[in-house]
Amino acid sequence: MAEKFYKRLLAGAVIILALLLAGCGVKVRVSSPLTGGETGGNLKVHFIDVGQGDSTLIEQNGHFMLIDAGEKDQGETVVSYLEKQGVKKLDYVIGTHPHSDHIGGLSEVLKAFEVGRVIMPAKEHTIRIYENLLDEIARQNLKITLPKVGNTYELGASSFQIIAPVRDYGDNLNNWSVGIRLTYGETGFVFCGDAEKEAEGDIIGSGLDLKADVLKISHHGSSTSSSSRFMDMVDPDYGVISCGKNNDYGHPHKEIRSMLKKRSIKSFRTDELGTIIAVSDGKTVTFPGQETEDLTGKGAGLENQEYVINTNTRKFHYPDCSSATSMKKENRKTYTGTREDVIKMGYEPCQICSP
Ligand SMILES: [Zn+2]
Ligand SMILES: [Zn+2]
Repeated sequence: MAEKFYKRLLAGAVIILALLLAGCGVKVRVSSPLTGGETGGNLKVHFIDVGQGDSTLIEQNGHFMLIDAGEKDQGETVVSYLEKQGVKKLDYVIGTHPHSDHIGGLSEVLKAFEVGRVIMPAKEHTIRIYENLLDEIARQNLKITLPKVGNTYELGASSFQIIAPVRDYGDNLNNWSVGIRLTYGETGFVFCGDAEKEAEGDIIGSGLDLKADVLKISHHGSSTSSSSRFMDMVDPDYGVISCGKNNDYGHPHKEIRSMLKKRSIKSFRTDELGTIIAVSDGKTVTFPGQETEDLTGKGAGLENQEYVINTNTRKFHYPDCSSATSMKKENRKTYTGTREDVIKMGYEPCQICSP
């Protein structure tokens, strides 16, 4: 008798357990149709406009992570942006490297939100802002996770792999930047802070998969980064440049702008567009609201575009090229049409602005 009872109880428990498990399964599916896909909704990447600096919020199925928070005076901007996105907890906070335009606003962020894991490189810096950040991390009883190349972490249904820093870079703080490759379904994003060409070489050398749809152009579009080998490996369709309007460094540098055009990488700049949002459904990446702003479609040579022609040298330029602005009036002609047309007219593209 008693044995039967226990057997029934056990059977009941199994059924309840099965129902609970099924319930969980249903729950997962219920939350996803709102945003689509079996992967649990979309992945959203917000390149927050923090002027000259970096701050990127990544969101997947209610999970959030933040990479950098701009200068100290941008802390509030970042916190209020995150609040608007419904952030309560950040699963991960990455401080790419101890430069103030990256970690400046992080103390403010740590004060405002619950944080799971803080990832920062094993490179200290003596600036006050960095020391204050370490104090804040200690005050919150958080520990710093050192980035180990190859390690992978999950963020909702997306995941990211640490790709940098590969080694010790002495006093070159930029090269210490924590780099990650974030993947969601078939789509990928690469973020490498301010990593310069030397660090990019090491990243390539580590042999990890770097292919991505979107690359956050390293070091605000400085020509010290984005080596052609690195660009070949990542081979992005889109490049996002985070920089301040009329910044003191001339970012993004002309070499990088023309390299992006040459490679037909559609690029978006926070100094021109403010905060930029990329959305991945696991198959393709889109930039809602930005589609009409074809900033580098020029590179394809099929759209109409204004060119400045030098009738003497037989070269053609983008109107903002230095050679175009300094050209002798009598040789200068403007032409609006496709790149193909200008070439058919017998002109050669300028080596500097590479139209
Ligand atoms: Zn920077
Ligand atoms: Zn830096």
